[in-house]
Amino acid sequence: MANTTEVSTSQAIPHWIGGAMHHGSSERSGAVFNPSSGEQIGSVQFASVEDVDVAVQSAKAAFPAWRALSLGKRAELMFRIRNIMLEHREDIARLITLEHGKVFDDARGEVTRGLEVIEFCCGIPHLLKGGMSEQVSTGIDVYSIRQPLGVVAGITPFNFPAMVPMWMWAPALACGNTFVLKPSEKDPSVSLYLAQLLSDAGLPDGVLNVVQGDRVAVETLLDHPDVAAVSFVGSTPVAKQVYEKATSAGKRCQALGGAKNHMIVLPDADVEMAADAAVSAGYGSAGERCMAISLLVAVGDVADPLIEAIQRRIRDVKVGDGMNATSEMGPLISEAHRDRVASYIERAPGEGATVCVDGRDPQLERGFFLRPSLIDHVKPGMSVYDDEIFGPVLSVTRVESYQEAVTLVNENPYGNGTAIFTRDGGAARQFQFDVQAGMVGINVPIPVPVAYYSFGGWKQSLFGDRHLYGTEGIDFYTRTKVVTARWPDPATSSVDLGFPQTR
Ligand code: NAD
Repeated sequence: MANTTEVSTSQAIPHWIGGAMHHGSSERSGAVFNPSSGEQIGSVQFASVEDVDVAVQSAKAAFPAWRALSLGKRAELMFRIRNIMLEHREDIARLITLEHGKVFDDARGEVTRGLEVIEFCCGIPHLLKGGMSEQVSTGIDVYSIRQPLGVVAGITPFNFPAMVPMWMWAPALACGNTFVLKPSEKDPSVSLYLAQLLSDAGLPDGVLNVVQGDRVAVETLLDHPDVAAVSFVGSTPVAKQVYEKATSAGKRCQALGGAKNHMIVLPDADVEMAADAAVSAGYGSAGERCMAISLLVAVGDVADPLIEAIQRRIRDVKVGDGMNATSEMGPLISEAHRDRVASYIERAPGEGATVCVDGRDPQLERGFFLRPSLIDHVKPGMSVYDDEIFGPVLSVTRVESYQEAVTLVNENPYGNGTAIFTRDGGAARQFQFDVQAGMVGINVPIPVPVAYYSFGGWKQSLFGDRHLYGTEGIDFYTRTKVVTARWPDPATSSVDLGFPQTR
């Protein structure tokens, strides 16, 4: 049985290929930090072209037997995977907190949201059902079947090191594909640990492989002729690049990018409730969630009371080591990222905005910490408005009307999530109709869809046309085949050179 010490971060973290740890041929590696202490706690190997090829060949070799496994057996294995993940949820969460920094409770929540997708995949026999039409012509039946694609690859970001990979490999494997995962090099241990758990649950060798690394590993996967499809989650420039490269190489690709999620607060909203939601969604996981709220659009005279209510709450947010039970917000992922986020606070006044709360705190010496920041009078054209900051910085844009608010959301190049806070059902319904974003919350600030719907944005937040998990995930990882069959009665057989007719 796996335990977290087997993937100790005190030595170079290896790959997982063919059902075992694999020490690659590359001399290249990257540093892994504990963001709470700021100390380097290990290093991770960076795969070479050859290492990636070994992983793809392992997945390719495992594919024929895996796709031939009966649906009943595959479903049974998904149940076992679900159970072993649940049993080790705390260990997984500890590894997330160690390398990512998010608070332990949040890490546990991440594992749970990943598990929900595995639970959805336990119903794979039902999800793979095709359609059938009997007697389309005399003695002829037509039916459609879903088949796996082959070897598929997943490339994932640092901010959900367990959940986002689960959102990919669970449906991909359940559909009968084999998988090569390239997790983020910033928090690589979790994927290795999950691979070990899957193996303990009985997953055949080679069905799931993990290659650690950077751009070299990603580009090798994108170029590899034996990789049929690529799922990517990360920042928009890389998502666009991955999508263009993968599709021009003839691969199916879904590439989810960055976000700038607006939360509209109408004048009739419950201000205290909206402030609770804004603080939770803006500063949870230190703002490093693609569904975090980064912009509050305050309509009419709601801005002043809302800002006052948020400031009151910010004072109480406890920032600290993610393993400390009293911490509510952990550090950012790296020193460079912390400094980049801080640079937006520095620049904001010069661009015409007002910094109400400055989260830079020289007393936070250890670790990559920033306290929550709040910036008012932010407008399009300012860097704090235009860029995805991906940190604990909430901005407020003041507008006069609902129409101005919705225009801001719709003109934004990103379209991941958005939310409206109001007590007016008609306004909320109009928003749901008008707004150009893939995931919409009505008095819900982080509307991540449940596992039986699908996750994905619009515009620059998604390249490709299939969202992750849910039925769209099943569509992405399968292709359909339509069979036209005749079992003729020999007594009615004759030669007919005409084009087959249905009537
Ligand atoms: P990132 O784009 O830097 O990295 C994502 C993955 O791509 C990593 O595995 C990384 O190794 C790889 N990569 C990085 N640069 C590359 C390059 N030039 N060529 C090829 N591969 C490259 O993203 P990140 O910093 O790890 O994660 C944060 C970003 O992810 C944010 O923009 C966030 O909004 C986004 N994100 C989006 C979603 C979503 O569902 N839309 C979910 C989570 C995170």
